[in-house]
Amino acid sequence: MVSERDLQALEAQLGRPPRGVLAIERRCPAGHPQVIRVYPLIDGEPFPTLFWLTCPEIVKQISRLEHESWIRKLEERIARDPEFRRRYHEAHKAYIEERWRQLTERDRRRIEEQGLLDVFRKRGIGGLKSWDAVKCLHMHYAHFKARGQNPIGAWIEASFEIRECREDARG
Ligand SMILES: [Zn+2]
Repeated sequence: MVSERDLQALEAQLGRPPRGVLAIERRCPAGHPQVIRVYPLIDGEPFPTLFWLTCPEIVKQISRLEHESWIRKLEERIARDPEFRRRYHEAHKAYIEERWRQLTERDRRRIEEQGLLDVFRKRGIGGLKSWDAVKCLHMHYAHFKARGQNPIGAWIEASFEIRECREDARG
């Protein structure tokens, strides 16, 4: 269960009450949520972002990389580096399996009945239709911080100094 205090912290981070939060996967050393895990179906609608980066300070740092065209540059690497592509596809598979495991039997049946099975069984990280696309760095970095198995997040971690909020920071 997620504590009331964490839900309040998440509301402050996201600017709205969080929904479907299953767990705080990781915290900044300062104590606030950094990555959360979210239920894949919210009010009957698919919510394909299983891991969500919520710390505004880290979100900002990752956004800077997006502005520096790293989405496109990483997509180019996926296209030309078969080993990187293979690891990326493995990460999609692991993500899909974990997302599916979150769902109750009843919701799995509902998804089948509504013809939404492909959304859950074929779309990858963050709901990506193409497994060779990157789209957003935040969701990959969140997956990496929660599970370690995401080559895009791992590459960001190794290439840039992404700073977590320190213990003496407030928030
Ligand atoms: Zn933080």
